[in-house]
Amino acid sequence: MIVMKETATEEDVQAVVEKIEGAGALAHRIRGARVSVIGAIGDVEQDVSVANLGLEGQQGVDRVMPILKPYKLASAQMTHGQRTVLDIGGRKVGGESFALIAGPCTVESREQTMQTARAVADAGATLLRGGAYKPRTSPYAFQGLGQEGLRLLAEAKAETGLPVVTELMDVADLDAVMEVADVVQIGARNMQNYALLAEVGRAGLPVLLKRGLSSTLDELLMAAEYILKEGNPAVMLCERGIRTFENAYRFTLDLMAVPVLKEMTHLPVIVDPSHAAGRRELVTPLSLAAAAVGADGIIVEVHPNPEEAICDGPQQLRTEDFAEYALAVERAAALAGKALSGREPVLA
Ligand code: PEP
Ligand code: MN
Repeated sequence: MIVMKETATEEDVQAVVEKIEGAGALAHRIRGARVSVIGAIGDVEQDVSVANLGLEGQQGVDRVMPILKPYKLASAQMTHGQRTVLDIGGRKVGGESFALIAGPCTVESREQTMQTARAVADAGATLLRGGAYKPRTSPYAFQGLGQEGLRLLAEAKAETGLPVVTELMDVADLDAVMEVADVVQIGARNMQNYALLAEVGRAGLPVLLKRGLSSTLDELLMAAEYILKEGNPAVMLCERGIRTFENAYRFTLDLMAVPVLKEMTHLPVIVDPSHAAGRRELVTPLSLAAAAVGADGIIVEVHPNPEEAICDGPQQLRTEDFAEYALAVERAAALAGKALSGREPVLA
């Protein structure tokens, strides 16, 4: 939409209209009492981009306001209402399939990883999570076991059969991560690391993309667009809490993002209650709310002995409580018409 200045002449308006039509787009003029507005209608599929005509600098133009979504491949219009359903090692994510992704914040030891993996597998988890490369606020904090962590995840996957989600922070570790990971996690802090996004796009492995701490949904979808644009369609988005003025809890879990993202995009939407809450007591109620509001899955932290955890201890669920938690989440997901992949919906 091009808004002309009050001082714009008839010639100025005509010059804008000609430029739009010359680019193969349609120009629709609206005469206001004081200003003229020109609606320019391009064709996204044929890439007639009015945005690139440089109309901002044209004589008589006050401002140019894009009304088309800046993302294309991620937009709901792209698939004409059809939702993307990912297949991760035979487990579905999206549509009517709910993903319960669970595991430790970070891989600490063989014992801790195997114990957690067994507990979450027995309780019906869909995927195993666990960080080998950790984005820590402090450079002095534990940074993850790296290659050794990946090796332990591979062992847990071999024993339980659970596909693995693990974070990639540095392109240099891509090959090592790809050997083990079924899903690459891009953490909140790297949501706008465009070089990393393009690289995982080219790698082609499914990606779990977390929303940045202060990112809008538009920005999240633009980040997803970087991955999709490289030919990788397997992206799931993750709401993990955003920074607001409220400081009674660590982050504000934006559950409204779930139904709103469903309007904006065809991609599956996962919720991480653990990192938003920062403490265990909040994790179950937030998980139930997320499932009931229509999330396509939950990624949650679990530890056999959270008191001894190297990181995020206070928010990690106890392995012994996980089966009960999983059942409660499964019931809440049924309220939204979803079931764990490969299972019948449980009665809510
Ligand atoms: C994580 O899931 O391990 C993590 C660090 O989360 P976030 O990037 O959302 O902080
Ligand atoms: Mn964590």
